[in-house]
Amino acid sequence: MQQIKSPFLVKLPSSRLERLQFIKDIFIEHSGTDLNDAWIGGRVEGLRKLGLIQPINYSKNRNFLNGDVTHLSPYIRHGCITIAEAVKTTKEKVNTGAEKLLFEFAWRDYWRKVWYLNGDAISSDMEPPKVELKRVALPQDVKDASTGLVCIDHFVQTLEQTGYLHNHARMWLASYMIHWLGVDWRAGADWMVKLLLDGDLASNSLSWQWVASTFGSKPYFFNKENLSKYSDHQFCQSCKEKCPFNESYEALNTQLFKPTTAPAKVYKRANLPQSAIASGSKTVVLFHDEMLSAAHSLYQSSHHKVFIFDPVIQHDWALNRLQFIADCLIEMPDVEIWVGNTAEVLVMLEANKIITQNTPNLLFKSLIKGYEVLYQAEPAPYSDAVAQKIMAKDLKRFSKYWNIVGADILKSLD
Ligand SMILES: Cc1cc2nc3c(=O)[nH]c(=O)nc-3n(C[C@H](O)[C@H](O)[C@H](O)COP(=O)(O)OP(=O)(O)OC[C@H]3O[C@@H](n4cnc5c(N)ncnc54)[C@H](O)[C@@H]3O)c2cc1C
Repeated sequence: MQQIKSPFLVKLPSSRLERLQFIKDIFIEHSGTDLNDAWIGGRVEGLRKLGLIQPINYSKNRNFLNGDVTHLSPYIRHGCITIAEAVKTTKEKVNTGAEKLLFEFAWRDYWRKVWYLNGDAISSDMEPPKVELKRVALPQDVKDASTGLVCIDHFVQTLEQTGYLHNHARMWLASYMIHWLGVDWRAGADWMVKLLLDGDLASNSLSWQWVASTFGSKPYFFNKENLSKYSDHQFCQSCKEKCPFNESYEALNTQLFKPTTAPAKVYKRANLPQSAIASGSKTVVLFHDEMLSAAHSLYQSSHHKVFIFDPVIQHDWALNRLQFIADCLIEMPDVEIWVGNTAEVLVMLEANKIITQNTPNLLFKSLIKGYEVLYQAEPAPYSDAVAQKIMAKDLKRFSKYWNIVGADILKSLD
């Protein structure tokens, strides 16, 4: 997002084609393709996709690239639908056999709780690596999708063209980059999160760390047989490169990994920006990018409701992600839309008090620190008592989290 000289109000065109172009014209420095029709933003489309979920098929074929995955992640990431709604709908749809999907929704919630508990430390190694990590820069041929490996180039192209990648492809790509090429997990995570429509600091950084072994007991790696099986053998036939994955797990284990005693690496963090100091007298409901739904309870508020496209937060997001957000906002006509620095917009609105949904995003929180802020709790797929129990724990592993929430998430609807 280019530097905005002074904030301005925008009125989004109701025609979708005009809206996509409008966003492109405003954010001219944002690269990437236009939002694909398969990824129309907003709650209406999120609910439509939620209605199509196939929990039983999902449990059988979710690891296949052409399996019955839900494609819900951008909608959940932006609050168009909540995990609580997704869990409820899944349980209403099938009585038994939905555990796998419920488990995956829980993974997202788990990463989020780790973010709440650890703050920006999730952008550094959570633990010492279990194998040697070289931590080199991201190679240009990976970014350009020109490695010659048909599978890897296809994943990068898909990511760039659509903003979405199947979970297994994300795992293969991250593993190839970290363990075969020696890429710094942090460089890979920073690159990927900018391209994803569902880009999320917790799910992304912590998944990369899980692959790297800095948030897990061992590194994640794969071989040709695994990739070929779960991608329906679509890549290998046309690949002319010598396949680096064509080995047994035992051989790859020896080839890729060396023991290490290296400590956890702490990455330098950017300083958080200063907030303006409240000078006005008005209450503003500030919709951030995790609560983009007219069904949100704060949408009923009679206070001034605002969303701000702020370069501090979205400066490196791909164009299609900004278009996705615009699609979400068109369904929220009572929300005023600004482009500019949050601090300046809030001064212009004469704000004194801010109401918003709680978030682990400390960058967002730093922008409104100088105000009286009322943080509303996020909707959760379990009781308040369970929510409090989780936040009181050290959640080093998903199993610890699942021991606390699992029964509540799996229990049948009353
Ligand atoms: C390297 C890497 C980076 C990732 N970065 C992100 C990210 O930035 N944002 C993001 O939302 N997810 C991320 N994930 C997790 C996962 O890949 C995506 O959530 C999932 O692929 C989204 O597609 P879907 O909605 O069709 O998922 P489905 O398989 O249909 O799953 C349903 C929902 O469960 C949740 N979910 C499923 N798998 C996971 C998982 N492993 N971790 C967390 N939540 C999960 C998502 O909310 C998803 O929408 C990443 C995974 C890896 C390996």
